[in-house]
Amino acid sequence: MSELHAPARTRFAPSPTGYLHLGGLRTALFAWLWARHTNGQFILRIEDTDQNRYQEDSLDDLMRGLRWLGLEWDEGPEAGGPVGPYIQSRRREIYQRYVQQLIDDGYAYRSYMSAEELDALREEQRARGDAPGYDRRDRYLTPEQIAAYEAEGRPSVVRFSAPLEGKTTVHDLIRGDITVENESVRDPVILKSDGLPTYHLAVVVDDHLMGVTDVLRGEEWISSTPLHQMLYAAFDWDAPRFIHLPVILDPSGQGKMSKRKKVVDGHEYLAQVHEFIDAGYLPEAVFNLLTNVGWNFDAEREIFTREEAIERFDVADINPSPGALPYAKLEWLNGVYIRDMAPAELQARLIPYLSRGLDIAESDLAQDPRLPLLVPLIQERLKTLAEAAEKVEWAFQSADEIDYSNTKALLGKKLDAAQSADVLATGYDLIENAEPFTADVLEQAFRAKTDELGLKAGSFFSPFRGALTGKMVAPPLFDSMVVLGRDETLIRVRNGEAALRKAALETT
Ligand code: GLU
Repeated sequence: MSELHAPARTRFAPSPTGYLHLGGLRTALFAWLWARHTNGQFILRIEDTDQNRYQEDSLDDLMRGLRWLGLEWDEGPEAGGPVGPYIQSRRREIYQRYVQQLIDDGYAYRSYMSAEELDALREEQRARGDAPGYDRRDRYLTPEQIAAYEAEGRPSVVRFSAPLEGKTTVHDLIRGDITVENESVRDPVILKSDGLPTYHLAVVVDDHLMGVTDVLRGEEWISSTPLHQMLYAAFDWDAPRFIHLPVILDPSGQGKMSKRKKVVDGHEYLAQVHEFIDAGYLPEAVFNLLTNVGWNFDAEREIFTREEAIERFDVADINPSPGALPYAKLEWLNGVYIRDMAPAELQARLIPYLSRGLDIAESDLAQDPRLPLLVPLIQERLKTLAEAAEKVEWAFQSADEIDYSNTKALLGKKLDAAQSADVLATGYDLIENAEPFTADVLEQAFRAKTDELGLKAGSFFSPFRGALTGKMVAPPLFDSMVVLGRDETLIRVRNGEAALRKAALETT
């Protein structure tokens, strides 16, 4: 086993500032895959030190999204673990201790400039044509000046004393070396006046204390990594391996994928994980799709299991170039997983969606004898779980709720309203006399009658489809009759006939 493949400790470290989006989920997925591949641990850490941007329900949304995809964390909120707490706002004292250590060792200092003074400084710099940034002035305060500021009760922050000369090189496993001039790092704030750390200090302290070996995160963090490396050096700690994942591009392949739903060329592109859940995408399909964004399971094989992905996944094979999210593939994948699913499993997964779509309690649906009959009828053509409700709605409506306002749905191919009504009247007797009342018996009787009348199936069958459901597109006809039962089927055929007779009168 190479050093790279030793058990890895990885983490997903989101800030609870909004809903989990697909890009964040991909970052979590890769960190999880790598931990599982190496038999290591996957940590969930909540980076909530920016209290101004905190959003109340985002932590729940985040955990729900991760669990939905099956990315259970070994350590983190709710799971606990040996190096917690895993929520940064509860680690305040830990950061303060390490910041004090940096001050004591000469790697950090208190700065007393107010926000207004900093704004004024930036203005001056701009006016002179200099790049705006902190000019390190408080780095050189004398003990007397500090004492005076403290006596005044001035609020202060702590800044990092970045090296003034030389260069820092960061190694990214998939991108190679990234070098910056140390001078470009202008003593950033590491502890804010509210006593909470900034991201940079907290991420370094936590990744170290939590024993993180491999930092997988979005490429937008690359520019922060040299500063992190300087902090590791100041603490005299070894830095973890860095792997900056490529950004996911928008379907147009132009900009970065948005964090919100977007409509491009009339097609709606979802972005947040809860939207994919609500729309009825399966976690299997999203797992498969995301695994292949930035990494590739196999050029030949589109469908694979989670176990197979874990087995093959290797951070060294991640492609650093940005790629667009193949939305069209998601729909296809979803259909594949739906068709492959055992009907009983599909039924169980459909219940929450049907409950919402049909406004029927989940517990009632779970016991409804129609459901096991209906699921196999729609399975073949179902693209998302949310779509199921409108496909089976007719079975849960009462006869008088069926809407026949679209007479077209009741017409047989090449038949007018009066002829279609006659077809329904003829079929009525067949339905009344079918013994036993099964799809096979019904189909045989209908086919024999179609031949006898010299009609085509499209002419003879369609009016029944319309009468039963009110829709042009419906599940297989004779199975649908069996789901409704003989009596209900007969009522609907009569109602359909009446609607057609009325339409026939109106057109003459
Ligand atoms: N809290 C950062 C975020 O919200 C995490 C960056 C990192 O993984 O270091 O993306």
